[in-house]
Amino acid sequence: MIESIPPRTARRRLQVAATFAVSVIKQEDFIASVADALQYISYYHPVDYIEALGEAYAAEQSPAAKDAIAQILTNSRMCAEGHRPICQDTGIVVAFVKIGMGVQWASGGKTMSVADMVDEGVRRAYLHPDNTLRASIVSDPSGKRRNTGDNTPAVVHIDLVPGETVEVKIAAKGGGSENKSKLAMLNPSESITDWVVKTLPTMGAGWCPPGMLGIGIGGSAEKAMLLAKQALMEPIDMHALKARGPANAIEALRIEIFDAANALGIGAQGLGGLSTVLDVKILDFPTHAASKPVGMIPNCAATRHAHFTLDGSGAARLDPPDLARWPDVHWTPAAESKRVDLDKLTRQEVASWQPGDRLLLSGKMLTGRDAAHKRIADLYAKGEPLPVDFRDRVIYYVGPVDPVRDEAVGPAGPTTSTRMDAFTEMMLGKAGLLAMIGKAERGPAAIEAIRRHQAAYLMAVGGAAYLVSKAIRSARVVGFADLGMEAIYEFDVKDMPVTVAVDARGTSVHHSGPREWQQRIGKIPVTVA
Ligand code: SF4
Repeated sequence: MIESIPPRTARRRLQVAATFAVSVIKQEDFIASVADALQYISYYHPVDYIEALGEAYAAEQSPAAKDAIAQILTNSRMCAEGHRPICQDTGIVVAFVKIGMGVQWASGGKTMSVADMVDEGVRRAYLHPDNTLRASIVSDPSGKRRNTGDNTPAVVHIDLVPGETVEVKIAAKGGGSENKSKLAMLNPSESITDWVVKTLPTMGAGWCPPGMLGIGIGGSAEKAMLLAKQALMEPIDMHALKARGPANAIEALRIEIFDAANALGIGAQGLGGLSTVLDVKILDFPTHAASKPVGMIPNCAATRHAHFTLDGSGAARLDPPDLARWPDVHWTPAAESKRVDLDKLTRQEVASWQPGDRLLLSGKMLTGRDAAHKRIADLYAKGEPLPVDFRDRVIYYVGPVDPVRDEAVGPAGPTTSTRMDAFTEMMLGKAGLLAMIGKAERGPAAIEAIRRHQAAYLMAVGGAAYLVSKAIRSARVVGFADLGMEAIYEFDVKDMPVTVAVDARGTSVHHSGPREWQQRIGKIPVTVA
């Protein structure tokens, strides 16, 4: 029987067919694209971040902050050339996946969910033999916290949208910056800028500024946080926005928060300076009349994200950036740096260090971070001996990337020191350490312990991990080998650059620096890039 179709019905069928045109995407293409993107962002900063940081470097007037930015820029170029991670913390993977409703998946015999496919891409990227990345994910989070070994699972957000493509925005988010995320349920009449200005100083420098702030406004509590994270996927364009002027209220708010945040004087690595944030990105969503949820998530010196679209024609290809766009900055140690022999270090020498002194450390140091400190505390509680003698030694808070080829160790930058504050009295008093190395500020109890024991706290630059690792000549595990990257290592270093951040009298540059620069910014005409 021949069907006779009225013209309107035929048109409608054509429209439906057009609406539901199908593209076929191979699961293998998706997985390979995720793996390539994660390798890519492990060693290439986004060019917009690097150009904004270059402008901040040129404008910076604080010597300590300028030195820190120079280390981050130099590290960035070294990583881009050497294809090794920008930071030892290679992040938790977060993927935003928009799947067109006209997409069909060609499975090649494997049935995988989208989250499974992302995880397979993560696994391949993090276990890549030429550029092994650090596996940082532990499970279960409130219990045994065992490392999953391949950095899975990723956090995957999926949207079904009209269309025939799959769009992916993927990031590797550092734990130090993620830990500083904030959520506030403001009253509708309250100022968002006032809340940011009040909140930012409480976040310390563990998020490795200069970076960017992602702010989500509206929706519900979880929607505001999701918007804040999505906002960080946008390129840095504050310079261009300021040049052309705001076109709407959200752009005006971005500028207001940007200026207010930088006027705090927190500066690179919290040392005091002009550039704390390079941009403020905002996304908003309608909300309940009674509510004004605001989420804020900082992105750090290891800003890492990539975007790609699959249309069925094969795996995504991310072209390498043009290294000519990296600013011509090549960090070298300051001429006034003091050389320190760790193998002959005494408490008298430690007591002679002044806040802000630049040191070049050579000799042997021990490492240890969260899990090692917890285990040391447990051994003391049980009256059992420690695997290493810490007396008159220096400890470095680090969880390095595994080495490849002829490396002694992979990228090995400092981790956030405040997490070790609860153990500081034990490590200085009972274990007998002379000094600690980490990143960002120390809390009041740790500073008091440092003063009481005539010790010192030294800071290395967060986000300059590959540069720092070049000072490490050899590395061997000397305790808690089962903890993987959290084991206790002994590093033999040559001219490792650090700054005295808390001296034996308890003076902290993370207090004095921002205070000084906040006052200066208020008094001198300053243009922050
Ligand atoms: S730059 Fe700092 S916050 Fe970012 S991943 Fe590295 S150590 Fe963590």
